[in-house]
Amino acid sequence: MSSKKPDSRTPLISGNWKMNHNHFEAIQTIQKLAYALNPEDYDHVDVSVHPPFTDLRSVQTVLQADEVPISLGAQNCHWETSGAFTGEISPAMLAKLDVSYVIVGHSERRELFGETDEIVNRKLKAVLAAGMTPILCVGETLDERQAGAAEAKVDGQIAGSLAGVKADVVAAMVVAYEPIWAIGTGETATSSDAQQMCAHIRSRVADTWGADTAGSLRIQYGGSVKPSNAPELMSQPDIDGALVGGASLVADDFARIVNYRLYQA
Ligand code: PEP
Repeated sequence: MSSKKPDSRTPLISGNWKMNHNHFEAIQTIQKLAYALNPEDYDHVDVSVHPPFTDLRSVQTVLQADEVPISLGAQNCHWETSGAFTGEISPAMLAKLDVSYVIVGHSERRELFGETDEIVNRKLKAVLAAGMTPILCVGETLDERQAGAAEAKVDGQIAGSLAGVKADVVAAMVVAYEPIWAIGTGETATSSDAQQMCAHIRSRVADTWGADTAGSLRIQYGGSVKPSNAPELMSQPDIDGALVGGASLVADDFARIVNYRLYQA
């Protein structure tokens, strides 16, 4: 199901800082980013940054004090609200810090920390219950792609991670298609491969939750997005944004990605 991108799907450009930047570096980076972007740059795009937990309060303070229209995001959370879960952070704690978006099911969490679709599903529901928007990551390995199993992998992740979530809630969510072989490798999916999978995801969502839900859902592409490839990726009809890792650590590069429109043919 490929559709012309409706105006209602405001593109979302998200910066996943991963385990980078202490809170001093985080303050510098967000200040540089705020300086690099003009008020009109936010007219057609939503922007979120996802610093490590230890930076959230510092970044929140800068965004609030300077009234910067960048949303605060987190990279992960636990599914419980509070309790004996040493080392974990709850959705309620994130919401209290004005976090708007939480990445769930990033491939690094799935691969390095054993997160299953069931765990991702619990986290996603907890994020929603706390009033925030989940960015659900899905994507295949290189082996799965080469074996022709990419769509089946993504279908399974969508079904498992979104089990029991109602259509109107799915409609307001964000899914990030991130082929694992393209994350942090410098390799990017071709814009047509990325488009094809994002269209496939939309079509699977339509099968389960209906065409209206699928038409509202924002689907990001992630995997070595850079200032040079963002304009073409973002011109694809089913790509509504980008989840950016490495390039989001450099304020000027991330600002150029946010401003992808200026560089489109
Ligand atoms: C990511 O962090 O989700 C990501 C896609 O990283 P990178 O842009 O560095 O490939």
